[in-house]
Amino acid sequence: MVLDFLGDLRRTHTCGALRASDAGSPAVLMGWVNRRRDLGNLIFVDVRDRTGVTQVVFNKELNPALHEKASGLRSEYVIAALGMVKKRDPNTINKNVPTGEVELVAKDLKILNESKNPPFLPGETVLPNEEVRLTYRYLDLRRPEMQANIELRHKVAMAIRDYLSGQGFFEIETPFMTRSTPEGARDYLVPSRVQPGSFYALPQSPQLFKQILMISGFDKYFQIVRCFRDEDLRADRQPEFTQIDLEMTFPQPDRVYEVVEGFLTAAFRAAGVSIKTPFPRMTYDEAMRQYGSDKPDMRLPAMTDVRDCFTPEQLQQLNVDQGLPVMAIRIPKVGELSRRERDDIKTLVGERQREGAKIFEDVKRLEKTFPEAMGKAHAKSGAQADDLLVIVAGGVRPAAHKSEGGVKPEVKQHDRAVYTAAGAVRVALGQKYAAKHGAFATRDFRFLWVTDFPMFEWDEEGQRWAAAHHPFTSPHDRDMDKLESDPAAVRALAYDVVLNGTELGSGSIRIHRQDVQRKIFHALGMTEEEARARFGFFLEALEYGTPPHGGIALGLDRIVMILAGASSLREVIPFPKTAKAVDLMVDAPTPVSEAQLKELGIQIRKP
Ligand code: ASP
Repeated sequence: MVLDFLGDLRRTHTCGALRASDAGSPAVLMGWVNRRRDLGNLIFVDVRDRTGVTQVVFNKELNPALHEKASGLRSEYVIAALGMVKKRDPNTINKNVPTGEVELVAKDLKILNESKNPPFLPGETVLPNEEVRLTYRYLDLRRPEMQANIELRHKVAMAIRDYLSGQGFFEIETPFMTRSTPEGARDYLVPSRVQPGSFYALPQSPQLFKQILMISGFDKYFQIVRCFRDEDLRADRQPEFTQIDLEMTFPQPDRVYEVVEGFLTAAFRAAGVSIKTPFPRMTYDEAMRQYGSDKPDMRLPAMTDVRDCFTPEQLQQLNVDQGLPVMAIRIPKVGELSRRERDDIKTLVGERQREGAKIFEDVKRLEKTFPEAMGKAHAKSGAQADDLLVIVAGGVRPAAHKSEGGVKPEVKQHDRAVYTAAGAVRVALGQKYAAKHGAFATRDFRFLWVTDFPMFEWDEEGQRWAAAHHPFTSPHDRDMDKLESDPAAVRALAYDVVLNGTELGSGSIRIHRQDVQRKIFHALGMTEEEARARFGFFLEALEYGTPPHGGIALGLDRIVMILAGASSLREVIPFPKTAKAVDLMVDAPTPVSEAQLKELGIQIRKP
C-alpha cells in the first residue's frame, strides 16, 4: 500500500484513539513529542494530543533516512507521523494506556514545529513548583491532569446549561462595567476616560441586574458568569471566579432547591457521579448547635451537648460556665492517642477560633474524676470504644452582648462562641485523623441545605448591624415586626447549599417591596440619602410592579474542584491568579504609561 500524507491526511487519528481493531490500517498522528526513547536501531516516540498518547516506532532497518530524522526529535516538537497501525507483541503491551496494544510503524514524518527545551515536561509525573507552572501555564495545561480538569469543567458547565435551558431558563448577559454592588468585598474599579474622576466597578455578582431582569419580566434567568471581588485571597478564593447565577419569579425556597438539585444532578452525572435528591435540610440554628458551623460536614458525626450529664457543682469544679453548652465531639475509629497527640489537640485551632472556650482533650482524666457524668456523656454522644471524644465548654462568660436582650434568637451569641469553637475543633480533628476514620476517602457527596439564616450580623468593628447575606434578602414574614426592636432575632429567607463542609452557594428570596427594602436599609444604619445615592435606580425600579422573586448563585470553580478531587481552585481555572492576585504568565497587574494615566486624569500617589 502506498501511503502519503496528502492522501492519508483524512485518516488523521487522535493520539488516544488507536485500538487493536485499527491494526493493519494506515494512520496519521499529529501531536507533541511526549517522550523519545532511542534504543539504537529503534526509536520510540510517544505522540501526544489532548486525547492521549500513541507510540510511534522508527526502525533503522526499514527506513534509515526516516530513522535519522526521528533521532533529531526532541520533547514538545510538534510532528505529523504517517504509518501503519500494528498490534504490539504480547510482551510489549502497555496496559497503562488505552492505546497500549498498538503502535504506529512510521513510514513518513513531518516536523511541524520545534520547541525550546521546556522548563518542565507535560509528561513528567514530578511537578515543578507552582510558580513555574503558572508562569508557563501553556505547558502546564498540556499535562493530562490539567487537560482532564478543563474537560471536566467544560462538561459540567454544558450539563448545567442544558439542564437549565431545558427548564425554561434563559441565559442572559449582564454588564461587567457597572456600579458597585454590595456582596461584602472590595470592588475592582475601572476608571472612566470620558468622565475623568468617575469609575465603573466590576460586578461582585450580577445581583441587582438579575433582580432587574425579574422586574423586566424574564421570569427564569441564569448565567454562568464571572464575578470580581477584591478580597484577601485564600486557597479557595480567586479575585475573579465563576458563578452559576440564577433567579426566578414567584418561587418558594422549595422551587429554588428543586432547580439547584436538578442542575447539580446533571453536573455530577456529567462527571460520572450519581447523587441523591432531595438534599436534607437543616436550619442555621440546628447547624450551629449540632456542627458549630453554618456549613456542616455531614461525613462525620454531629456534636452532642452533654451539659446535662454533669451537675452544676461538677461544671464549677471544671471551671466552665454552667449557662453555656458543653459540647462532646466524636471522631470515629481514631483509637488510642499518645500523650503528645492529645496535647496537640488544644492548639489544633487558632486562638481566635477557640476564644472563650475550654478544651478538654484528656477524656480519661475526666472519666476518673467524674465516672458517672462521663458515662452518661459517652452514651449520649453515641461514642464507641475506639472513637476519639473531646469536650469543648464555655470558659468565663464574656460581657453582655447586644443580641442577648429582648426576644429569643434561638442561638445566642454566647452559646454560639462555644458552638463555633467546638465546630472548629471538630473540623480540625476530622482533617487530622482522616486516615484513621476514613470518612473522607470515599467519593461520598453529602449535600445539605442550610436554611433560615439570621438576617443581620453584629459588626464589632463598626458597632452596627450588617446584612448577613446581602441587603436585598427578604426577612421571614413572621419576623418583620422585629426589624427595629430585635434585629438579632430576625431570620432571613436565605439558604446555602453545602457539600462536605464547603459552601457551594447561597441565595435567598428577595425583598420585592420598596417599603420593606427601605426598612432594611434603615435597620442597616443607612440613611434615606445614602440608600438613594447607592441604590436609587434599584429602589425606583422596585416601584414599578416588581414580582416576588428569589434565586441563588453557586461557585462553578468549587464544584469542579471537588469533582476533580483537586486541592486548589487553581487546578481547575485555566488561567488563575496567585495568592497575591498576580497572573504570572502575562505578568499582571503592571504599572501603565504616564500617557495612559494622564488620559484618565489619574495620578499615582506614592505610598
Ligand atoms: N449574589 C449572591 C452572591 O453572589 C447570590 C444570590 O443571592 O443569589 O452571593
